[in-house]
This record gives sequence, C-alpha cells and structure tokens, in this order.
Amino acid sequence: MSVNDTLFERAQRAIPGGVNSPVRAFGSVGGTPKFLVSARGPFVTDAEGHEYVDLVGSWGPAVLGHAHPAVVSAVQEAAARGLSFGASTPAETELAEHVVGMIGPVEQLRLVSTGTEATMTAIRIARGFTGRDLIVKFDGHYHGHSDGLLAAAGSGLATLALPASGGVPEAVASQTIVLPYNDRDAVEQVFASHGDRIAGVIVEAAAANMGVVLPAEGFHAWLAETAHGHGALLISDEVLTGFRVTRRGVWGLDELADTAAPDLFTFGKVIGGGMPLAAVGGRADVMAMLAPLGPVYQAGTLSGNPVAVAAGLTTLRLADDAVYARMNAVADAVSGALTDALSTAGVEHAVSRVGTLFSVAFAPEAPADFAAAKAQEAFRFAPFFRSMLEQGVYLPPSAFEAWFVSAAHDDGAVTQILDALPAAARAAAG
Ligand code: PLP
Repeated sequence: MSVNDTLFERAQRAIPGGVNSPVRAFGSVGGTPKFLVSARGPFVTDAEGHEYVDLVGSWGPAVLGHAHPAVVSAVQEAAARGLSFGASTPAETELAEHVVGMIGPVEQLRLVSTGTEATMTAIRIARGFTGRDLIVKFDGHYHGHSDGLLAAAGSGLATLALPASGGVPEAVASQTIVLPYNDRDAVEQVFASHGDRIAGVIVEAAAANMGVVLPAEGFHAWLAETAHGHGALLISDEVLTGFRVTRRGVWGLDELADTAAPDLFTFGKVIGGGMPLAAVGGRADVMAMLAPLGPVYQAGTLSGNPVAVAAGLTTLRLADDAVYARMNAVADAVSGALTDALSTAGVEHAVSRVGTLFSVAFAPEAPADFAAAKAQEAFRFAPFFRSMLEQGVYLPPSAFEAWFVSAAHDDGAVTQILDALPAAARAAAG
C-alpha cells in the first residue's frame, strides 16, 4: 500500500470521509486524494515526495504562489508578537482602508474568518436593513454552507426553495428563492410576486462554482437596478473572484454607475493570503446596521486575527499590476493550449474566462446557467484529471471548478502544464 493510501485509510478512521471539506475526497475523479506536506511557488509536494504544478492554489488565495517569502515573514513576525488578542489591532484598520481604497462602493469593511460567515452576515445585514426576510439566489452559485444558502429550487420559478442538504430545516430554506442564472424573466417574475418581501439578491460576481459561467452582458447592473427598484439590496459575492480575476475583482472589470453598484460585497480567499480571513463590506449606511452601531449582531473570537491579517495585508500589497499581468499571461497560455489539445483530440469543449480565472466545459458552447453546466459530458473530466495528475499537474478534482493560476507560475511550470495537456485531452476523448 502506498504512503498516500495508508494516510487516507488512517484519515478515514479519524475524520468523516477522511477529509475536512468534501471536494478534497476526489469523489468525482476517483483514486486516493493526495496528502500534501508542503508547497512553494507554483508547486505542491505530497507525502510521497512527488511534486506537482498546482492549479488549485488553495482554491483561490494563492495569487502570489505558495509560501511567498514576504508573506511568510509577515506571518512569522505577527505570530511572534502574539497569535490572537481578542482586541482591535492597527493592522485591521490598514487592511480595511486598503480594501475601501480599492473598491469604490465599499465604504466600510467588517472582518470575519470564512467566506461562509461573510455571506451569512451580508444576508443578515440585508434583512436588518430592509426589515424583510426573503433572499434570492441563483442555481449553481455557491456562497458557503450556511443553512439558508444551502437551498435548492422549488418546483416553480417564484416558489420558495427546498433544503439542498440534510440538516437544513424546510422553514429556513423556504426563506430563499432559487432562480436560474442569467434569466431576467425569472427575476422579474419573482419580484412581481414577492417584491415587497425580498430583502436582497445574492449573486457570485461571476459564477465560478459550477465552472466559470459568465454573467450575460449587463445582467448584474440590471439585477442591481431591479433589486433597488423594489427596495431590496444586491450582494455581490466576490469571495472567490475578489483580488483574483483582476486587482479589484470582478468590480474592476466593469465599474458600474452608482445606481447599479452592489450594496454589499463579500470577500474571502485572497484577502486572507492563505489564512482564515474573509470580509463583508459595503455602503456605510448599510454597514451601520452591524453591532455595536446597529441592531444586527455579528461577532467572532478570531475575527481580524492578527496573523491572518498580516498574511492578507502583505498579499494585497504585493499583488500589484505586474502580478495580474503575469496571471493573465499564464491563463492565456494554459487556456489556449487546453483548447488546442482538446480540439486536436476531437473533444467538444468550451473555455469560459473572466480575468485570470477560467474553466473548461465538455459542451459545444459555454454554459450560461447551472442546467447547461450540468448537461456537459462531465464524465470526460475524470480521465483528463487523472492523466494530468500522473504527469505532475494538480488540477481541482471536479469538472465544476475553476482553475487557479498564480504569478509564481513561471515559464518552467507553464511548460510542464502545456506538455501534459495533449495526453490528457486524448484520455478525455476516451
Ligand atoms: N462564496 C463563494 C463565491 C465561494 O467560492 C466560497 C467558497 O468557495 C464561499 C463563499 C465560502 O467560503 P469559505 O469556504 O471560506 O467558507
């Protein structure tokens, strides 16, 4: 039995499914998940000593690559000063000021520890601000694992949602309405029937948890205006896209008129530089709902943890235009070669891309919603993934995830990915 197999067997005895987050279990690609012991730059190393070029990037945070020396030093210095105080620190304000300076509509920022907390808090703020209960979300958009966001579409468009997970009470799921993405008619219908009960609409700034699925031209601006027309808020979830797709996230791609700006933003992943840190931010009058100013309660023993803030602040400061230029160049090279390899192998596919973020769907055209994303030939992904892994490239272990490049992917790392693609494409062809 290999070292990895032994580690997984042991893990399965002590940890449910052997993993602390489900997609790590390799359920949709088969085989034993790799146990990683170290990472540097564009590489991760498993417990058997194999090194892989990494396109997971810790699911997003690693824009500078792994273990960037300046980030590691900042973390070490912060740790040496004390791991956690449970009191305010100057660096928290510096991080908030940095984000406020970057993202126009974010006037204030509250730090939390996970993206799940950020979206959960954003929803509570929207409810507190509007005095309404219903939340609209889109099918296939992932906003973390709070009860109300683990909701699945009901039987009709304007019907209340059903639990999408065991343990979610129907009464909670029924406060959510799940709509097909990019579908203006569906949104209009829901606002027509429930408009005065809707507190807010939450949307991934660009969907990236069903593969990358782009918003139709103008959809989010229209969504903001529609929500505002009914007294509801728009929450733009930039947990995955923020400080990744561009320096200013999706917001940086098409800064919108004030009327079409989201009221609340959520951030995670890059903002913590690989440490547990996330944030909710937005209009000052909306953020003023939060305790201790307002009646909406939110708190956290480790919120704004000094070691996490050191990692996040250093990462954001280092992530300059050159970093995003390099990430774009890597994304160009890898997505271009991916298309070439799949075309040569005769595999129908479409690459979707937003800024530095992209994914491939085994479908004739890029999906516009979850139904289309699910209709792809996802069975082609497992052999593709396994071939890449055997050739030393570590991809997200699911057909429905984006690929995460970093500025540390140098020409050598990129060449290793490009060299692996033709054989993987042939494996996908079957
Ligand atoms: N929102 C989006 C768009 C995400 O992609 C994720 C996680 O992948 C979350 C929220 C939840 O973040 P976390 O895993 O830090 O709780």
